[in-house]
Amino acid sequence: MSTQMLTSPKHQNVPFVDLGIQYQAIAAEINHAISKVIQEADFILGREVRLFEEEFAAFCDVPYAVGVDSGTSALELALRAFDIGPGDEVITAANSFIASALGVSHAGAKPVLVDVDPYTYTLDVTAIERAITRRTKAILPVHLYGHPAHMDPIQQLADKHGLMVIEDACQAHGARYKGKRVGSLSHAAAFSFYPGKNLGAYGDGGMVVTNDKKVANRLEMLRNYGQKEKYKHLFRGYNRRLDTMQAAILRVKLRYLEKWNAARRWNASLYQKHLEGSGVVVPGEAGGAESVWHLYVIRTEQRDQLKDHLVSKGINASIHYPVPIHLQPAYQDLGHKRGDFPVTEAYAEKILSLPMYAELTGRQIEFVAQTISEFQAVNRTGQVACEPHVRGISPSL
Ligand SMILES: *Cc1c(COP(=O)(O)O)cnc(C)c1O
Repeated sequence: MSTQMLTSPKHQNVPFVDLGIQYQAIAAEINHAISKVIQEADFILGREVRLFEEEFAAFCDVPYAVGVDSGTSALELALRAFDIGPGDEVITAANSFIASALGVSHAGAKPVLVDVDPYTYTLDVTAIERAITRRTKAILPVHLYGHPAHMDPIQQLADKHGLMVIEDACQAHGARYKGKRVGSLSHAAAFSFYPGKNLGAYGDGGMVVTNDKKVANRLEMLRNYGQKEKYKHLFRGYNRRLDTMQAAILRVKLRYLEKWNAARRWNASLYQKHLEGSGVVVPGEAGGAESVWHLYVIRTEQRDQLKDHLVSKGINASIHYPVPIHLQPAYQDLGHKRGDFPVTEAYAEKILSLPMYAELTGRQIEFVAQTISEFQAVNRTGQVACEPHVRGISPSL
């Protein structure tokens, strides 16, 4: 045991995320952007919305972006823009935030859940193929925790069966797959600007990006009462616009996103270094993937005890997600039972998300890792260390 370990603090506050510290660094720019919108009284689909759409589209390497009021709306409206609705099936992950399925349901279609790949936590491609029916219209891969899904094999499957691919990129702003940005890898992609996301507003917000001009035009109408020009309503659209105020805030923050994502990548590498040999399973990147580490999710057999231990030391860890979608009361009508998705279900008992944000310090990360290692030294059962990919075998995308 090193002397450093003996003199290390016993308790240190490490929040799960810290939006205040990020605001402090850019407060002047943010305050200016907000007051400008108020002074110009440009509140609804204002200039800042259009500029943010252009800048976000460029960031994603796609020609079009349409701002909406949330990530859930982005998913729903993207599906509606492709005329996916009642009678149609959309394949997505059982291991995701529930909004991945809600977007499908709100469009009137049926979410068909499948299990995930044990290394990347994203859609298991062989499971997708088994789930395809005559009704399947789209595959909706989720870039979970900021790690891109297996897009090439998914696209090949989609081509073979004539399906659309729509990315749920709500946790992955800026991630890359074989060098390409997520959002540019399919027909359309949905982003969320929920405050805690890698690019977060000060309220709700979302975006659909696409390389299809017709789809972009349709989305512009869908979010704005179905109108093409004022008081000309071509169909029964919605009021799902991105706020000008949020767009102005997001424009400021977008300029920092690359830097913040790089800091998250660095923080992930520090966690990995300090957790080596601790016996917990640390997350990795598949070959060809560049994750933006929205969440840093480890696995361990004594998850609940470890979480309590961390909390007792001032460290806020969290679980994403404790109950898989198919076991939620909201989706009882899909008729699933425990045992249907073994990877998702096993992981729900083992996963633990450690504090992760750009401003996390090296000292904080070391403290978290050391607290985990100390707990493990006493409580380790060694079971998870037997999983194949823990022994350094990382698959490619
Ligand atoms: C956050 C999130 C959503 C929904 O975004 P909201 O803006 O909260 O509606 C959808 N899918 C995933 C994977 C998410 O993490």
